[in-house]
Amino acid sequence: MKISWNDFVEECNQCQACPLAATRKNVVIYRGSVVAPIMFVGEGPGATEDEQGLPFVGQAGRLLQLLLDAQGFAQKDFHIANVVKCRPPENRVPTDAEAATCKKLLGKQILICKPKIIVLLGKTAYTLFTGDKNAKMTQIRGAFIEKNGYLILPTFHPAYILRNNNERIKLWQDIAMVRRKAEELGLMEPLETPPEMPSQRPSSN
Ligand code: SF4
Repeated sequence: MKISWNDFVEECNQCQACPLAATRKNVVIYRGSVVAPIMFVGEGPGATEDEQGLPFVGQAGRLLQLLLDAQGFAQKDFHIANVVKCRPPENRVPTDAEAATCKKLLGKQILICKPKIIVLLGKTAYTLFTGDKNAKMTQIRGAFIEKNGYLILPTFHPAYILRNNNERIKLWQDIAMVRRKAEELGLMEPLETPPEMPSQRPSSN
């Protein structure tokens, strides 16, 4: 059955399907473009995201945006979401049951967004999305996994990069890899000049 974006948003906003509904301020659904060739999926909203009802708008989100801007990603190119749409209290990791419940909504979101490439931000998102609990991010990052017609790329969560700035180059390289793949597939136009990795730290508020 085809579902409209507005009906989907309404369904998310009304959702009480898991315990996270009790403590949320806002249901955090997406930012970017509703239909987009590239989807970024994180673990779940933090405090800033819960306040604003938008994903990846805190300091880690601003770092991600800094890198996307430098690689020439426009808003039409991406759709950013999380495995769970409501903030886990104290920023704890979502439980398997919460993730399994909310993944039904994420599945609908993917069908509407129609991405060709899905970037999983961080080990927790990777585990919650794939069910694979044993993989190490250092082993799985930087290589696409083909599954159900999607190209899936696990990479570091920008919050990890904020704490380990010497690893920034790896997230940068992975985003560059996404860009190259998008260019190969005719989803993005090549840049006229090679991008340079921004070195500044995003503001903390
Ligand atoms: S986290 Fe997902 S499943 Fe749980 S209440 Fe929020 S929208 Fe519903």
